[in-house]
Amino acid sequence: MTAKKVLIVGGGASGLAAAISAARKGGEVVLIEGLNRVGKKILATGNGRCNLSNITANITHYHGENPKFIEGAFTQVDVEETLRFFQLLGLETKVEDEGKVYPISDQGSSVLDLLRYEVEKLEVNQILEDPVRTLQKKDNRFILETESKRKITGDAVILATGGMSAPKLGSKGSGYDLGKSVGHGLTPVFPALVQIKCDNRSFRSLKGVKIQGSIKLEAEGKVLRKEQGEVLFTDYGVSGPPVLQLSRGVQECLQKNRVPWVVLDFFPEAGEEKIYETLWMLVSLDGKKPFDFSLIGILNKKVIPVILKEIGITNMKKACEEVTDKEIQRLAKILKNCRLKSTGTLSWKDSQVTAGGIRTDEVNPKTLESKKIKGLYFAGEILDVDGDCGGFNLQWAWSSGIIAGEKAAE
Ligand SMILES: Cc1cc2nc3c(=O)[nH]c(=O)nc-3n(C[C@H](O)[C@H](O)[C@H](O)COP(=O)(O)OP(=O)(O)OC[C@H]3O[C@@H](n4cnc5c(N)ncnc54)[C@H](O)[C@@H]3O)c2cc1C
Repeated sequence: MTAKKVLIVGGGASGLAAAISAARKGGEVVLIEGLNRVGKKILATGNGRCNLSNITANITHYHGENPKFIEGAFTQVDVEETLRFFQLLGLETKVEDEGKVYPISDQGSSVLDLLRYEVEKLEVNQILEDPVRTLQKKDNRFILETESKRKITGDAVILATGGMSAPKLGSKGSGYDLGKSVGHGLTPVFPALVQIKCDNRSFRSLKGVKIQGSIKLEAEGKVLRKEQGEVLFTDYGVSGPPVLQLSRGVQECLQKNRVPWVVLDFFPEAGEEKIYETLWMLVSLDGKKPFDFSLIGILNKKVIPVILKEIGITNMKKACEEVTDKEIQRLAKILKNCRLKSTGTLSWKDSQVTAGGIRTDEVNPKTLESKKIKGLYFAGEILDVDGDCGGFNLQWAWSSGIIAGEKAAE
């Protein structure tokens, strides 16, 4: 039997994984990448260390219209299988907090270099700096046309073009147009794992201040998600790992015309009653001490005036003996429940992943083949699948890429 010619559009995480598995299955593989190098985004992941997977990866960490879709690929290529795939390339990994997996070298370039070595060893034909502009199927053959007007034909095509996040690293949404041109539908796309904008001006003076706290997203009195960790105040709102996890929910609220509220808890380990008692203890230590100064032992100095102003205390320098019980109650309450109205998130350029994408009900979850066009496959972020922060998105890229490559070459 002659080898199947598999054309892979996009040389990111999922495209590289697909190229390797298709070539190992005996496919004649052509990998077409729009940038001058494959895998540029991989180098930017995990702050340069590439958080390539997470040992807790399961359906609860994934989003989209049908998160269950991931199970088709994950039951065939799970985290263990993925790590074995990398081990056979020569990459050893370690598990850090919350199940995050990194290369032992702490360098994302180890991951990319080993993938590139394998792609070259398997004699994958790489076409660089020539983005694919059109996709057609005629007489059972696929025809791709690139920006330079090169025509490439093949038996199968894998669209692994990513989404719209971090466009400088290659993905600007052109894969959606290719999918749409052959009849595929798209769920609404929006930036996820991105910083949150808040409209409270007085908090802008906290730019650069970090707190270890907990943060909730609320809408119409319901808690939508709660996270804990380092929250960074910025001139537009809030940032930091727990904030990124809430950002998808902010966008969803706005799409449904619900007002998203970011609620900070400065002391997640203590209840409001305990904070109230601590505050009374502090103001009782020395009646002559200025009120704001009495708080510097428990709060960041920049936070104190902002919070006191927020609860309506204008004379912050008044002596502790003048502080009323009502004021202490209000202070305890806001420290546990500091509410900032969100106006949205930052944009594509700052986001790590794209929510939404090619509709998963039009794709076979076990093979990642289109249900509409035989021989057309999808892998990675182009699909309506996005994961939490912590290695889940790359895990999806590897699992879906490996399966799509294998099936396309069969
Ligand atoms: C700053 C940053 C940090 C991140 N950190 C992590 C992390 O630590 N852990 C984690 O799990 N996830 C992380 N992510 C998310 C993760 O990198 C992506 O989800 C993952 O890379 C998606 O893989 P992909 O192959 O689907 O798409 P991409 O990696 O985006 O690759 C798509 C490729 O297709 C190419 N392309 C696009 N259109 C065309 C076309 N028309 N023709 C030819 N080529 C085309 C692009 O140039 C690109 O190389 C991070 C993302 C960013 C931006």
